[in-house]
Amino acid sequence: MHSNVLPAGYSEALFRRKEKKKKKKKKKKKSDLSDAIDESVRAQASPSGRTEVSSAMATELQETIFMAKQERHKNLFLNYRSLNVFPMELLKDEGLQYLERLYMKMNSLTTLPDNLAQKLPNLIELYLHSNNIMIIPEAIGNLARLQSLDLSSNALQLLCPEIGRLRSLRHLRLSNNQLKYLPPEIGDLHELETLDVSMNQLMSLPHRLHRCLSLQNLTADHNLLCHVPRQLCWLHRLNQLSMAANRLTFLPLDLGRSRELQFVFVDNNMDLKGLPSYLYNKVIGCSGCGVSSQVLESDLREVPGNALSQALVGLSAEVKVVGSETENVVPLEELAMRTLHRIYHHRPTDLNLLPPIALPKSLLDLLQFPLGHCHRCSQAMFTIIYPKLFPLRDTALAGVHRRTTVSFVAYCCSSHCLRTFDLQG
Ligand SMILES: [Zn+2]
Repeated sequence: MHSNVLPAGYSEALFRRKEKKKKKKKKKKKSDLSDAIDESVRAQASPSGRTEVSSAMATELQETIFMAKQERHKNLFLNYRSLNVFPMELLKDEGLQYLERLYMKMNSLTTLPDNLAQKLPNLIELYLHSNNIMIIPEAIGNLARLQSLDLSSNALQLLCPEIGRLRSLRHLRLSNNQLKYLPPEIGDLHELETLDVSMNQLMSLPHRLHRCLSLQNLTADHNLLCHVPRQLCWLHRLNQLSMAANRLTFLPLDLGRSRELQFVFVDNNMDLKGLPSYLYNKVIGCSGCGVSSQVLESDLREVPGNALSQALVGLSAEVKVVGSETENVVPLEELAMRTLHRIYHHRPTDLNLLPPIALPKSLLDLLQFPLGHCHRCSQAMFTIIYPKLFPLRDTALAGVHRRTTVSFVAYCCSSHCLRTFDLQG
């Protein structure tokens, strides 16, 4: 190869530029007619000599990549380059074995090459913000060292399940795409700390998301989410949960029970009128979390305490039986579940590893993820719940929200706990 004879990388690049021009001339002779047509089309599209500009850009790109390859750069910046295909120079020969960070935001890429992981095997961060990527190849899963992937503001409609093979991934940004659902395999990303799926068309989040035990920051604003999976309350590292501008009508009973969860943003969910009282001293969005409901306000003033359950808002769809204060006997199913839970609760092992008990899967799941825990005594609750409402105006957050129509909802395990529970206590 001629590159061996040349003293420095830069002169090789210049050499290539000349070569390319020669080739262009040759090509022009070959098919004068088609080129003439081409030229006229280009001239129509851009009368100010855009051809020259783009060819200069292409040469500069080649030089940049060549330098990165020669000098074993770890970072390569290819932002704002008007690229509509992945640069071949990155994939030639052995690729760029030393490259760790590739920045390609604000281009016009529509997909990624299949051999990305072979040619850029040490990639740690890949930034593809603001392109036009519609599909990412299954081979993306081969980027074994990838820790950060930014595909925000693209045209993704589907995310392949192979994304779950990126076991080193810590930050995944998918905001402003057209995703309708996320593959459950996202739950295999055990190192994932940040997940941003805001501004998509998601109607639900995968239940397996609760396996992302490193997750600290989950952002899902501006989607079509109707509920938050109850299992997310088990994400003990989750510090910030943002679900503003969705269609939430209720929140899981245990949301905010984790001490780690400090910031919950659920404003602009028009039908959300109740918040779990675990959130009463946490930040829950700064513009309130629903539209005012005069009906609810007047109901609250008029109904006596034991009829609250009927006036309740934001009750989880999973709550099948709502206990009333006059009910003294807890249903047998609830008692059985509480007993089983007590038996298994202090064992650190997974429920699946315990000796088999004759329970249907739905009840086993319930055993693992109870509906909630009593706000008074912390006992797990499964089928029966006593709800208690506190108007937001009685809490420390009233000033922050400047809204008083939203209620805090406390859930208790028995009429005794219900009577003795107080927000401040
Ligand atoms: Zn209780």
